[in-house]
Amino acid sequence: DMLNTTFSRSISATISLFLVLFLNATVAQAARDYQRVVDEAYEKFKDLKDGANANYIPILDTVPSDLFGVVIATRDGKIYSAGEIKYEFSIQSVSKPFTASLVMAQQGPKVIREKIGVEPTGLPFNSRLAVEIYDSRSVNPSVNAGAIAAVSLVQADSEKDRWKKVSDNISAYAGRDLKVLEEVYNSEYETAWGNRAIANLLYNYERLYSDPEEALRVYTRQCSIGINTKDLAIMGATLANEGVNPVTGKKVLDSEHIPELLAIMAATGFYDESGEWMYSAGLPSKTGVGGGIVAVIPGDFAIATFSPRLNPAGNSVRGMKAIQHIAAELGVGLYGPNTRE
Ligand code: GLU
Repeated sequence: DMLNTTFSRSISATISLFLVLFLNATVAQAARDYQRVVDEAYEKFKDLKDGANANYIPILDTVPSDLFGVVIATRDGKIYSAGEIKYEFSIQSVSKPFTASLVMAQQGPKVIREKIGVEPTGLPFNSRLAVEIYDSRSVNPSVNAGAIAAVSLVQADSEKDRWKKVSDNISAYAGRDLKVLEEVYNSEYETAWGNRAIANLLYNYERLYSDPEEALRVYTRQCSIGINTKDLAIMGATLANEGVNPVTGKKVLDSEHIPELLAIMAATGFYDESGEWMYSAGLPSKTGVGGGIVAVIPGDFAIATFSPRLNPAGNSVRGMKAIQHIAAELGVGLYGPNTRE
């Protein structure tokens, strides 16, 4: 009798344990309804027409402004998407932390701090003034000056090799062989007088570590790489997954460097709107004037958006709103759930 009772007790304990696990899983599933929040973000903001395409690079003004894509990629490689996920737009500044990560992988994070800098500028992404007023000159890897410096720091034997290392690295993050949008490259390189001035100024201050025109060319090619919204989400998910691409399984960056890289994105990823972005979304992110944004929820997942219309700071209007909506709905944020939209 005693034995029987013990037996039936343990049976019912086991059954209730399974019940609890099952319910928990169901609740977690409901709390993480990725597809619903992606669809919602798309529907809610698809008709918003605020902002304008970047036009200082002439060809960016010809990208269809109404295109809008929203993608979540999780650290186990699941993809949830709404809207435009195939159109290839130029990666632009979203490429910058990824090349900074290549410098870290080659030489460690100290080099970023000492040879580029990690402070926000509080000035526009293409500021020449920042190069003059800050002692570090390049200031951080997310603005043009620091990004051109990062390209010049990549250890390479030749310009060809420098380009190969930069592009192979970004392709490894995306998990496929990415190509340069040659029209974007030509349009940007032909009009790159401001960036050329920055490269030369940095060289003058001994804060550029290769031939300036070589750094400018490789940097401009890097910015002209074509990606789609899904590629961008996978790039972010690789950072969320401690440096391992969750789709290809390839390790792109040592997990020990992820905290420093995400810190750079948090402090500087939105240019002179980085404080506002951390205040309202609380996620390490990077934007680009091609209309892309990637936001990382460390150890968890990434959100990528594409929408060409930018606000005056150069950040995609619908992309920002979509990411804020998703972060608020899922209750994720670096410092805790952020409910502000
Ligand atoms: N290639 C662009 C430039 O150098 C990048 C700027 C950006 O995306 O913010 O102006």
